[in-house]
Amino acid sequence: MSRIAYVNGRYLPHARASVHVEDRGYQFADGVYEVIWVSGRRLVDGALHFRRLARSLAELEIRMPMAERALEAVLAETVRRNRVSDGIVYLQVTRGEARRDHPFPAESRPSLVVTAKSAQPPASALLERGVKVITLPDIRWTRCDIKSVSLLPNVLAKQRAREAGAFEAWQVDGAGFVTEGGSTNAWIIDAEGTLITRPAENAILNGITRLRLIRLAEEHGIRVEERAFTVEEAKRAREAFATSTTAFVMPVVEIDETPIGNGRPGSLSLDLRRLYERFARGTITEDATAA
Ligand code: PMP
Repeated sequence: MSRIAYVNGRYLPHARASVHVEDRGYQFADGVYEVIWVSGRRLVDGALHFRRLARSLAELEIRMPMAERALEAVLAETVRRNRVSDGIVYLQVTRGEARRDHPFPAESRPSLVVTAKSAQPPASALLERGVKVITLPDIRWTRCDIKSVSLLPNVLAKQRAREAGAFEAWQVDGAGFVTEGGSTNAWIIDAEGTLITRPAENAILNGITRLRLIRLAEEHGIRVEERAFTVEEAKRAREAFATSTTAFVMPVVEIDETPIGNGRPGSLSLDLRRLYERFARGTITEDATAA
């Protein structure tokens, strides 16, 4: 079955799905994106993703390409046309096409691209083993809270991780504190069983999985402390894990070749993973009033 993409008002086979060479997303990485998990055709935490999208666009003064309800309909139709039951839907909004010049064009229509593909959460073998992370300096800008398509430092970080046989690279700020992974948020668990993750300021992307897990943990009486932690503290932690839309909750068992805890996925990390999976499958329903 050929994959179908939505591009500026049309549903097209991938081979013909393209934007103009002078699209500012292509020229300047002048755009933002979202990746949303699809479970049984339903968007997981769609409302939180839409809210983050609106915020990223507002920070860059890019208009929403269409009303939220219309955007929801485009996502649903792209999911349907690609016969995705479980998987991801990707959406990207750029400032649009304009003759190449750095300042905002006087007039431009935002470009919207949506794709969808079937996928499964990471295999249970990976979860049973856990994953390794490496650390490296965070060379990004000071607005990592915007979900920009400008991902070159993240690409380099993930490539270094892959070359080291690691799942992720935890980026470290100038003071020695972990910011986040190349495409995941970073967490540790201390000896008292408290979850620790960096506060959502400009140095990290406020992950939707991060937000959801904070809420799920607190609902289950697990303490969460939003504060920065150093690489040294992480290496001495009882447990560590990473979160994202596609990784869910991924136990980390090694940081720069130092085993975490007993070198096996931590029990609380695995409990949180199960909790999140149940939420994503819809067996724990969302509290619509929260967030
Ligand atoms: N940090 C970065 C840099 C990311 O790219 C991502 C995933 N897009 C995350 C964190 C996790 O965010 P989410 O839980 O919304 O997928």
